[in-house]
Amino acid sequence: MKYFEDIQMENLPGKHLDPDTVFHFSCHPKIGCFNRCCRNLNLFLHPYDVLRLRKALGIPSDDFLEGYVDVVLRDETYFPDVLLKMADEKEKPCVFLSPSGCTVYAHRPHTCRLYPLEQGRFFDATTGETRLVHFLRPFEFCLGPLEKASWTPKTWSEDQKADLYNEMTILWSDLKRLFRENPWGEAGLSSPKGKMAFMAVYNIDRFREFVFGSSFLKRYLIAPAVVKQIQKEDIELLKFGFDWVKYLVWGIPGPHFKTGSG
Ligand code: SF4
Ligand code: SF4
Repeated sequence: MKYFEDIQMENLPGKHLDPDTVFHFSCHPKIGCFNRCCRNLNLFLHPYDVLRLRKALGIPSDDFLEGYVDVVLRDETYFPDVLLKMADEKEKPCVFLSPSGCTVYAHRPHTCRLYPLEQGRFFDATTGETRLVHFLRPFEFCLGPLEKASWTPKTWSEDQKADLYNEMTILWSDLKRLFRENPWGEAGLSSPKGKMAFMAVYNIDRFREFVFGSSFLKRYLIAPAVVKQIQKEDIELLKFGFDWVKYLVWGIPGPHFKTGSG
């Protein structure tokens, strides 16, 4: 998700759509361009994408990070991003692409889910409010927009079961936005806090071991009901991890982390 601030949305690539603006799109195996799009992509994965993909593959998040992504540090941030590796073959297909389509379809990343839309958050500096914005941005060769089926950003998101992804991406973008300033000082990202933050955000299985296998829960006096919830649900553990990173790195209190705890 991109975060737009104090800029003219008309200048951004793609066609800006209001939540109820209609667009046409359909994708199916009989379309002439089938599978052409899942190649040679810069596909950045959000933390919830990582959580879901490692679930789709039935492997620990450590193994997913080791085998399926490149960790990159982009110019405008002080926190790494993870980029899905493409296969080392002609045309660099996505590693999850098969002749019949996406092999992780039910767990496909947020970006794939929303395509042909791109999503961002617009921050209105005058009101201090943020809202989701959508841009229609299909590949030039994509024949999907010539199909009859019609959608709005809202109905498309519902149809693609993207609403939960939207929610998690909003939480992630709130945290990621803080990393526009360097919180690490000279120690950099390889400092203990940097490594902990990376673990909490991207390595959910290692984070679970850390939370439940150390003095963490006692140190932070986490309520039993919350402990039960994060033990049961990966997604709750991830949200909990986001809150902890805010507290660990910047001392920002949250629902589970109060000033002076830890
Ligand atoms: S290029 Fe467009 S229509 Fe063709 S397979 Fe990809 S998303 Fe579907
Ligand atoms: S994850 Fe699936 S939908 Fe996304 S690029 Fe790979 S094959 Fe295509």
